[in-house]
Amino acid sequence: MHLTVLGTRGEVEESAPSHSRHSGILIDGTLLFDIGEKEYLDIRPDHIFITHLHPDHAFFITDPAPVDVPMYGPEAYEDTVTVTMMNAPVSLGPYTITPIPTHHSKLVRSAAYLVRRGEESLLYTGDLIWINREFHHLFDPVDLVITDGSLIRKGGRIRRDAETGTLYGHSGIPDLVRLFAPFTSRILFVHFGSWFYEDIDAAREKIAALGEEYGVSVRAAHDGMELETADPVFPRGQSSLSRFGG
Ligand SMILES: [Zn+2]
Ligand SMILES: [Zn+2]
Repeated sequence: MHLTVLGTRGEVEESAPSHSRHSGILIDGTLLFDIGEKEYLDIRPDHIFITHLHPDHAFFITDPAPVDVPMYGPEAYEDTVTVTMMNAPVSLGPYTITPIPTHHSKLVRSAAYLVRRGEESLLYTGDLIWINREFHHLFDPVDLVITDGSLIRKGGRIRRDAETGTLYGHSGIPDLVRLFAPFTSRILFVHFGSWFYEDIDAAREKIAALGEEYGVSVRAAHDGMELETADPVFPRGQSSLSRFGG
């Protein structure tokens, strides 16, 4: 599968030339995962899958506008647009898309998506605290994991709702490398938080170094990054692209 990372900016004020757009992962030019920017509609995807109804993943939450592409998500939504709840795998042409429940918010449901095409597979998690162990077999193994770069510190920022006990927030990048390293050889981070924008080159190096510790290839993505799920490692020279507008 051919991937284009459309956006790598988390829900922050900060921005930089190669990290200015909100979440969006495009597969083979036809399946779009998250629509953090309205302009992603210009690509004319055939289907849109939303990890959760936060505006940096679903622009229409704060900017109501019609969307004439079928949209699916972990819960239904009905306004100027319709999101259909999806809680079981679907087959679309050569693709099988499996939603996997995730922990992230106390107000909205969230899901990761496992996408398979023939022998190739990828997991896109959206914002993430954790995925329950009972679901890990679904992505054991997976060619590529694309996940949440909100926070660099171990433990991330996780809170517990006093009334319901629901956990919400984001895990740290080291926690997510530890979670996914047993299942994949490549982990790509998107959705960067404020920490990333303080010194982008240093941040990219910090992320890449975490992979060495676990024996996996780990990278920070940039807006417009293209890659193949079949590649065994990330393309060379990726880390220098950001300086030239990627
Ligand atoms: Zn979120
Ligand atoms: Zn987010």
